[in-house]
Amino acid sequence: MSQAAVIDGKAFAAGLRARVGVAAAAFEAKAGRKAGLAVVLVGDDPASQVYVRNKGKQTVEAGMASFEHKLPADTAQADLIALVERLNADPAVDGILVQLPLPKHLDEQAVVERISPNKDVDGLTPTSTGRLALGLPGLVPCTPLGCLMLLKDRLGDLSGKDAVVIGRSILVGKPMAQLLLAESCTVTIAHSRTQNLADVVRRADIVVAAVGRPEMVKADWIKPGATVIDVGINRVPAAEEGKTRLIGDVDYAGASTVAGAITPVPGGVGPMTIAVLLRNTLVAAHRIAGVALEDQAL
Ligand code: NDP
Repeated sequence: MSQAAVIDGKAFAAGLRARVGVAAAAFEAKAGRKAGLAVVLVGDDPASQVYVRNKGKQTVEAGMASFEHKLPADTAQADLIALVERLNADPAVDGILVQLPLPKHLDEQAVVERISPNKDVDGLTPTSTGRLALGLPGLVPCTPLGCLMLLKDRLGDLSGKDAVVIGRSILVGKPMAQLLLAESCTVTIAHSRTQNLADVVRRADIVVAAVGRPEMVKADWIKPGATVIDVGINRVPAAEEGKTRLIGDVDYAGASTVAGAITPVPGGVGPMTIAVLLRNTLVAAHRIAGVALEDQAL
């Protein structure tokens, strides 16, 4: 039985962050200021706090300015929107990320829609989403763009490949499908109502699983030699009492005996998300400052 190649997202993300660091220094020399990322966190969700801390740390490590705005859980919609408007107008800020999910009383869509499309480094505004659908340049959601980078690094030209994306969220599934379509894949988007999901997945040269169900995708769903990208992050009880561990949406051990290549969880897609966020911030900074980005491959 052959063993799939492991797609090392951790190493790829480290390389991407290093290239972003070089480009960020070149930007600062040309523009006379650092590229800047503002992250807004409302409330005290522990997972969100960890993400925001990591984003801030990696932003500074890449030579960019990090602005963290922590607001109380009972922040009013109008106050959050006023902050977004201030950040839209702030010349030190090139990227704005509002950490989701927001507390229940806030209207996420209404808040995201107020982010200037020029600073929409999460790629979630209607303008960014529309530009992606139209095939126009713009800012693309970080996780699916990271998945695409890993796929192109592994496979080169994706044109003509059969791709199945499991999941149709605004954050991952839909933009992932758009990106694969733009690479001329034949794309199927599967979701909770898809019939005979195993058969649908079995056709695929490329499988992207973004479901949020631990090890749902089984080894016998995978076409031999297929490339499997596991976006899922599921926290499950570990063998050791009271501890938890992370697993993906794919049965990694089983799928590894059939697939040609596969991303592990953790260490696959996860580290790509912040690396691409830094990349998006730098791309936005160049556009805003009217400075050409030297590293065209970024
Ligand atoms: P959502 O919950 O928004 O979307 C899940 C999707 O999976 C939906 O489209 C849903 O279908 C579909 N789905 C649910 N159950 C099934 C099923 N039984 N069969 C087929 N499809 C199903 O999640 P996200 O897209 O935000 O995230 C997906 C996973 O990726 C999560 O584990 C999340 O933690 C992880 N993630 C990881 C990131 C990273 O950095 N690596 C970043 C973002 C997310 P329907 O639309 O019909 O309900």
